[in-house]
Amino acid sequence: MAHRFDAIIIGAGQAGPSLADRLTRAKMTVAVVERNLFGGTCVNTGCTPTKTMAASAYAAHLARRGREYGVVLDGPVKIDMARVKARADAVAANSRTGVEKWLRGMPGCTVMQGHARFESADTVRVGEGLLTAPRIFINVGGRAAVPDMPGIGEVDYLTNSTILGLDRVPEHLVVVGGSYIGLEFAQMHRRFGAEVTVVEKGPRLIAREDEGISEAIRAILVEEGVTVRTGAECIGFRRHPKGAAVFVDCTSGEPEVVASHVLLAVGRSPNTDDLGLARAGVATDPRGFIAVDEGLATSMPGIWALGDCNGRGAFTHTAYNDFEIVAANLLDGEERRVSDRIPAYALYIDPPLGRVGMTVAQARATGRPLLIGERPMTRVSRAIEKGETKGFMQVVVDAETHKILGAAILGTGGDEAIHGVLDMMNAGASYATLQHAVPIHPTVSELIPTMLGDMRPDASGS
Ligand SMILES: Cc1cc2nc3c(=O)[nH]c(=O)nc-3n(C[C@H](O)[C@H](O)[C@H](O)COP(=O)(O)OP(=O)(O)OC[C@H]3O[C@@H](n4cnc5c(N)ncnc54)[C@H](O)[C@@H]3O)c2cc1C
Repeated sequence: MAHRFDAIIIGAGQAGPSLADRLTRAKMTVAVVERNLFGGTCVNTGCTPTKTMAASAYAAHLARRGREYGVVLDGPVKIDMARVKARADAVAANSRTGVEKWLRGMPGCTVMQGHARFESADTVRVGEGLLTAPRIFINVGGRAAVPDMPGIGEVDYLTNSTILGLDRVPEHLVVVGGSYIGLEFAQMHRRFGAEVTVVEKGPRLIAREDEGISEAIRAILVEEGVTVRTGAECIGFRRHPKGAAVFVDCTSGEPEVVASHVLLAVGRSPNTDDLGLARAGVATDPRGFIAVDEGLATSMPGIWALGDCNGRGAFTHTAYNDFEIVAANLLDGEERRVSDRIPAYALYIDPPLGRVGMTVAQARATGRPLLIGERPMTRVSRAIEKGETKGFMQVVVDAETHKILGAAILGTGGDEAIHGVLDMMNAGASYATLQHAVPIHPTVSELIPTMLGDMRPDASGS
């Protein structure tokens, strides 16, 4: 006999627990099934530990620069990696415990630990038990992709999860993959004192961003001593007495890099291959992401997919927004759509990159007439005062509608300052609204209106 509920939620990541809260408040009985750690990727192996460790790396960086600020520390800066790790572990554990306690104390919520697998469109197996419900919400997230690269089976490699277990600074960390996750780990480990090489297949780092951003980020990393090997067409591995040799086969430089540790940061795969989706009649795309409509309903009525597993976002805030969309449509009679979401995210290197909307390249591809504004961080008082003047800010505006299409702030405080632009875009306001605002001095945000007042027609003249 299957245990009957009003709803089943598979996965206690960034959407599941909040959805359980809303559904149980609506007097539904809910089963939440989690196979591993409460809080999912963000809390345990993603945002929380990495940003906590990046804070340690920033402290080390500032300590090394102390003299510039008139702060004198005697002797070289030393890293106690075990304490760095313990700090990150403690912050993550606190958050994880909070999620678990919240769920276990939720009236009407049954928490089950185990791997959930569909038996049919309304029934899920967890170990020996069967659960059934007319509504099932999939929030299973993803994991580090491990492509079948030559020699990968011969070497020990780290992923975003296992690298968090290091309690000693690696001698030479080779990061395979020059995108968001890889670059965050690359910079922090460099700041901890490791030799770091980033190996990227493409011609430039974070290829999704505009070229200028990629170049500026490369320069920031290289200046700190990170070696960047782009255009590494045939990445491969072999065992080496020191750890692993990574074939780079770039157009220039050494063809092989010897690593004490290798981090694979080459993308994420959805956790959908072991869910029994075919039995439930839930369709996926060729990469395994669950196909969803605007309201995040799957191909099978009564089943929804939220968070990273639906391929419509890859962030904590997008997973949480998926919960908001589903809850609003189901419980509040709204008709919210995932495509109404304006893409926004940050890359947490130092200085961070805050991004919203289209890149300049994407805006140009639309064929509209554009206005483009730019300002280097060397012309931002707050950055000068902080001694952190690397990077620049950029905005792209539709020259006819005056709506902001996108912006990037690569610079100190960029992850926060970008929200001024994001809010304007969400409000559907013209750029003049932001240009005429009176921001606080001295902040990074105060130069956004100045930049908007100094825009030029796009010279590319699309
Ligand atoms: C290194 C790193 C850094 C990141 N930094 C940021 C950041 O700074 N900001 C940001 O916004 N995002 C960041 N992300 C992305 C963010 O972590 C994810 O987008 C977010 O966690 C997705 O949430 P989710 O709810 O979709 O899935 P998850 O958080 O992955 O949760 C899914 C849960 O489902 C469980 N599960 C899976 N299969 C089953 C099953 N069959 N049965 C039962 N349970 C199952 C898993 O154990 C997991 O707990 C980062 C990711 C990584 C890897």
